[in-house]
Parts: sequence; structure tokens; C-alpha cells
Amino acid sequence: MGENMKLPLKPFRSRGGVKAPHRKHTWNNESVVMPPPSEVIICMSQHIGAPCTPVVKAGDEVKVGQTVGDSDAFMSVPMHSSVSGKVKRIETITMPNGSKVPAVRIESDGLMTPYEGIAPPEINSREDFIKAVRDSGVVGLGGAGFPVHVKLSVEKDKVDTLIINAAECEPYITADNREALENSWGVISGIKSVMELMEIDRAIIGVEDNKPHAIKALREVCEAANRDMHGEVCVLPLKARYPQGAEKVLIKVCTNRVVPEGKLPADVGCVVMNIGSIAFVSSYLKTGMPLVTKRITVDGEAVKNPQNVIAPIGTKIKDIIEFCGGYKCEPEKLIFGGPMMGLALPDDEMPLLKQNNAILAFSKREAARLEPSDCIRCGRCASACPMGLTPPLISGYIAQRDVKGMTDSGIMVCMECGCCSFACPANRPIVQNMRMGKGMVRAAARKK
Ligand code: SF4
Ligand code: SF4
Repeated sequence: MGENMKLPLKPFRSRGGVKAPHRKHTWNNESVVMPPPSEVIICMSQHIGAPCTPVVKAGDEVKVGQTVGDSDAFMSVPMHSSVSGKVKRIETITMPNGSKVPAVRIESDGLMTPYEGIAPPEINSREDFIKAVRDSGVVGLGGAGFPVHVKLSVEKDKVDTLIINAAECEPYITADNREALENSWGVISGIKSVMELMEIDRAIIGVEDNKPHAIKALREVCEAANRDMHGEVCVLPLKARYPQGAEKVLIKVCTNRVVPEGKLPADVGCVVMNIGSIAFVSSYLKTGMPLVTKRITVDGEAVKNPQNVIAPIGTKIKDIIEFCGGYKCEPEKLIFGGPMMGLALPDDEMPLLKQNNAILAFSKREAARLEPSDCIRCGRCASACPMGLTPPLISGYIAQRDVKGMTDSGIMVCMECGCCSFACPANRPIVQNMRMGKGMVRAAARKK
């Protein structure tokens, strides 16, 4: 192995970031498997890329793992039924970002009968493997929803490092920590398969150092695996500093490589996969059962029994909350994901999506926001920005709707991590402003 290919002994430095409170209340609670709900809603867009078209119709009988939606687009993955039962109807639902997408509503018969066509995929080549990963329906399970087969579709020899994202830097969320503790052998088996089939020589599992139990469990399986596998794998404890799990930040701290603006991790020789995604790939190769369940953290002061739940994809949020004992008080705010990057939900009727890793129900106290005041030009937002942006400067361009100014000052590299808002003593809604500015730049590009 060349100098640049050695396993790192300690993380490299990265820019910015904030010390967000951890609030990992559920880290030590074993995940609980939820029984099938009375119905599920399988949304046709649970990933970045083209939405699927339903391939079933009202009245059809379906089984667990059966394809209910698909697309010819490369940047897409099929959708599968997570219960057995009958298709009630095809409908349109509104996503948290306001977009409208088709969905398949299925009434469960409570039997969870697996689809007859389920069988482990036959893999004889790298192409077979990539096709199997697409067929499995897996996407980045840490929140991004990027189709995994697209990440793996890189030229041979372009990638030399597999990075497993187990940083889990968002407050409250502990689902990846539970994956590491409850399924460490599944994780390492997935890593071995990807390294062998993709001919990648080293893998680095990045975990924040506030999860010592997960680090220990993963180190044990890595040690055993390194005796008889293609290449080498290690666990790299990272400073618990948000956003260590953001893809570009993770690549920097694990490899000291910087992904240039507009480029992908593969352009610097890396593929990054979430720990849940890699564990799922291992399970799919053994069983052929597509992605039909998701491990999520349910927390927040408004929930009676916060815990990690393994629920059928498409289960309504209100059913998952009910399974966790229901609400302790009226929730002031419902969030899909963590408090830093998650999306606020209008109500609890939304179905669980593949890429969701948490449902947070905040009480009035938790959701309270301080009133914003004038910017005092302290520069803390710029120091906290992992992408090296200067939010007050960009905010000025946003106020003037100056698209060129916004673009030239780098607004499109903003990853909406929220570090700037978190660091701001004046409680300015900086990240919301950034989102709005990015929307203006995109709208201007569309007009052109
Ligand atoms: S939200 Fe954007 S501007 Fe704010 S810290 Fe993150 S990357 Fe920087
Ligand atoms: S941190 Fe807030 S107050 Fe300070 S410069 Fe940035 S926007 Fe202004």
C-alpha cells in the first residue's frame, strides 16, 4: 500500500463545525421490531432521482418484497411492498418539501407473507453485483437517499477507499449506533462483499468518539475480518463535532482528500456508504429480500417511550408513535430526521420513507426558538461553516436577489448543515435564508 493508502491512525483536520448537544437518550435501548400496521403507503419517490411509476393497481394482492413501483431511469430504485395484503388505491401524496408524488396504499392482511420470487441474487461479476444492489431498492439510509448502485457504478480502479459513515453526528439519533451494536457482523460482511466485488483495497469506518461501545464492537469484527479478506478495514474514532457525518467532511477527516465543488466522492477515489446501507447489502446478498423495513430513532419530549424501532417502510408516523406508547403531550413540532438537517412535518400522516433515520416529536419547550435580532457582524457563522462560506455576505446578495453575487460567493456549495444558525448569537435564520437563496439560483438557471 502506498503512503496515501495506509489505514489512518487518527482523523485528519476539517474546517468549521459546532459542538451540538448529543442528546443520545436511546443509545442503549435495543431496537424493537414493530408488528405490521393495518396499512402502509409506499411513496414512489424515496430517493434522489426519477420517481417510480406504480406497477400495481387497486385490488391487486401483493406480498412482502414484491415490486410495486419501478422506473427505467438509471438514477432511480424500485419500490417494494413492506406487507402482504391488497392494494387499496394509487394516490398522490404531498412530501415534506411540498412536492407531490404518487403512492401505493396497501391494506395489510397481517400475515407478512413473503413474495414467491424472493431468492438470493446470483452474482458472477461486478455488473451482476451493481444490478443486484439496484434491484434491492437500497439508497443511502443515513438521510441522503442517494441510490447506492449509482455510487458503485464507477470505472474500475477509480476508487481505492470505501468509507463507512457511522459518525451519526446529529443530536438524538442513535439508529446507526444500534446497527453497530446489534449487527456488527452484518456490517463487516457487507464491507467484505463490496471490497471484494468492487476490488477496493481499504475501508475506513468513521464513528464519532461519543460511541465507545459501537467502536469496540466494530473493532472486534474488523480484527477478525482482516485475517481473511481482500484488503484491510479499520475503525476510525472521530471527534464528536457536528457535522462529521456530512459526506465531504467525512472524506476529509478519513483520507485528507478534498472533494472539489461540483465533483463526486469517486473523483477523489472514495465511495461513502452509510452503515445501515452496507449492512442491508449483506442481508440482501444472503436472502434476496429487498429493502422493506427501516430502523429509526423515535425521540423527543412529546413521545411516551422513546426507542429505536424497526418498522415496515410506508408505516404512518402516527402508527409508529402509537407503537412507542403515543404522545405524552401535544407535539409542538414533528421532524423527519435530526434537529439540524431534518424536515418539519405538517402532521403525523406521512409514511416512513427509506432514507428516514429518525422521527422527533418536540414539546413546546424543546421546539422554542429565540427571537432573531440584528446581525452584530461577529463572524461566528463563517467560522462554523464547514464549507468556508461567509453567510452575512451571501445574505446581503439574497436580500438584493442578486443571483450572480450569490453564485460567485459559493452559495451552491452550502450543504444546509445549519452550523451557521447554531453558532449565531443573534439567532438569525441563516440556513433557511441559504435554502431560499439556493432556490433563487436554481430558478434563474431553469429560466435560462
Ligand atoms: S448551512 Fe451552509 S452556510 Fe451554514 S454552515 Fe452549513 S454549509 Fe455553511
Ligand atoms: S453569527 Fe449571526 S450575528 Fe454573527 S455575523 Fe453571523 S449572522 Fe451576524
